[in-house]
Amino acid sequence: MSINLNSIRDILNIKDDNIIFSDNFYLKKKFRYVDSHFFFASLSYVPSFCPCCGAINSSNSIVKNGFKSSRIRLLPISNLPAFLVLKKQRFLCRDCGSSFMAESSFVDPYCNLSNDLKKAILIDLMEVYSLKSIARRWHVSPSTVLRVLNSVPPLKNDFSSLPEFICMDEFKSVKSVDFNMSFIFMDAVSRRVIDILPDRRIHRLISYFQRYPIEVRRRVKGVVIDMYEPYITLIQSVFPNAVIIFDRFHIVQNLTRALDRTRISVMNGFARDSQEYKVLKRYWKLFLLNEFEFKYWSLIVSLF
Ligand SMILES: [Zn+2]
Repeated sequence: MSINLNSIRDILNIKDDNIIFSDNFYLKKKFRYVDSHFFFASLSYVPSFCPCCGAINSSNSIVKNGFKSSRIRLLPISNLPAFLVLKKQRFLCRDCGSSFMAESSFVDPYCNLSNDLKKAILIDLMEVYSLKSIARRWHVSPSTVLRVLNSVPPLKNDFSSLPEFICMDEFKSVKSVDFNMSFIFMDAVSRRVIDILPDRRIHRLISYFQRYPIEVRRRVKGVVIDMYEPYITLIQSVFPNAVIIFDRFHIVQNLTRALDRTRISVMNGFARDSQEYKVLKRYWKLFLLNEFEFKYWSLIVSLF
């Protein structure tokens, strides 16, 4: 029987090519009295440097040094617990004499839950479910659910620094926030979220940003925003040296709207049964096309 291992990789969502399935890659057996799926694979590669001392791997300075198996819990399959028994390559660095283990995007070091399973637990934690019910659904213990919850780093903000370029926007977060919209701002270069505020009203935002010392705020060179008017007031009052940058999407959106408003006002200047009125009304899309599309469609229209 030939089995396409790529389909197994797809089903388990394994994207790391360094994980290779063994010849006997699957077994269904009982684990703690419960029928479970077991998959078997190994993880190995040639490391480019030593994570302990930073030495580049040249002329076999890092050698392979056996394997260590770990049992990684996966998302359940057909409502049965599933595991990947992964033989991880151990390496020995001859430069510093330390050993280290092969790593993968599929699972974090020293963790026995796959990253996909952790994501699934985190998504459940956003809903109002008890720890017990989440634990039961994913075949883990309530303390594991709690550990996944605590692994999320909190947004720490000590108001001591700001990046040179900031992006600001608002988004719909949770129902309980005032005025339905939350405020988010992030580092425009590293894309790291700096903070999320439950309220985007201007006076709240100004008093929030005033908690940063003025020297810190002076260092901000630019702020990217949509064309929401209060943000302009905000930037002018809290970031004295910042340039206001409108993001491209909103510039195009505004241009398109302005063009459409002009079309409608010209259209309304003609009598309703005139040819001009009908053309301006019916072919509204033509005005929003680029040059090439416009030529194509004006040719078609001219045929009528
Ligand atoms: Zn080393």
